[in-house]
Amino acid sequence: MRSICLRLVTVTSEVKKKYKLKGLTLEELKDYFIGIGEQKFRGKQLFNWMYNHLSTDFDDMLNFPKDLRNKLKDHANLISLSIVDSKVSTETGTKKFVFQTEDGNKIESVVIPEERRNTLCVSTQVGCPLDCKFCATGLMGYTKNLSSGEIFDQYLLAAQDLGKDKLTNIVYMGMGEPLLNFESTVKSLKIFSEEITSGINLKKITVSTAGISPKIIELADLNLKVKIALSLHSCFEDIRSKIMPINKKYPLKESIEAVKYYAKKTGTRITFEYIMLKNLNDRNEDLNALIKLSRAIPSKINVIPFNSLKHMNPSGFSAELEPTPKKEIEAFVQNLRNNDVTVLVRFTQGDDIAAACGQLAIKY
Ligand code: SF4
Repeated sequence: MRSICLRLVTVTSEVKKKYKLKGLTLEELKDYFIGIGEQKFRGKQLFNWMYNHLSTDFDDMLNFPKDLRNKLKDHANLISLSIVDSKVSTETGTKKFVFQTEDGNKIESVVIPEERRNTLCVSTQVGCPLDCKFCATGLMGYTKNLSSGEIFDQYLLAAQDLGKDKLTNIVYMGMGEPLLNFESTVKSLKIFSEEITSGINLKKITVSTAGISPKIIELADLNLKVKIALSLHSCFEDIRSKIMPINKKYPLKESIEAVKYYAKKTGTRITFEYIMLKNLNDRNEDLNALIKLSRAIPSKINVIPFNSLKHMNPSGFSAELEPTPKKEIEAFVQNLRNNDVTVLVRFTQGDDIAAACGQLAIKY
């Protein structure tokens, strides 16, 4: 607790004007040291301190001469976010963090415990511009893109809190559309991709997108080999456009072609996210369309029950959405499995703390 308090004081005081080192890639750190008249290898040392030892204090860095530590303290900072709140679900052990950026915005991240893994769900934007009708973040509207440091710091702070070895997987599936904040998202992934990083392997990282097709292709060409999840939610253009307005700009047909390209280029399997909405995407024709899609692309389907948005007082189409009843979800999933479709179904994780899928939103 003491370190959190100290951190808050630091964030809100003079560090605002200092050069932000958190979120820089290895190459950028090396360039930074060259730029301040120091040797390049210091970049690798700082990378180790910041990202592997989770250090937030230059005074920890005893392999830096004292003069250099003082110089860094004067000119730079290692801080992007501070923890302002956290809650643990008594039902599932899911933990939600509320972080504050230096400019006073709040974002949320969630750690989801499962039998053999703990997955951290990180945010990439404050709010989201995409207005998906089932999503609390969409109802918040959009404020800003997070920097690579603000994205990466969610992992570092959660790792500090829970223990680094406890986190096994990351999904870029919190607040925001990662591929509309492409540069910062990719920079944060590049930090994980460095050989000297002791963080999470890229193969354990999934970037979720609503289907920004040109950026899916751009990410494929970077060959970072992270996994991609497409928020599908309907195989039919008209229904998908009602649930996800972005479908009018990037139609499903294009998004499907883009993820096909991604799967081929990276040799990874695509995840299709599918929130079950009563009478909208749980009909026989939806089942048949999913079976057909699964046969066309190496993939698995994540079936997710629709989580209540009542904490957001939704209006319009969002207020009309209803969850498919549990028994019907089970029958739908069984039908998919009978047709050799790989399906995961995750019943609610953290609904009691508004941390379940689609529920992340800061109450201002
Ligand atoms: S589901 Fe994702 S892309 Fe859609 S509004 Fe929510 S955060 Fe944005």
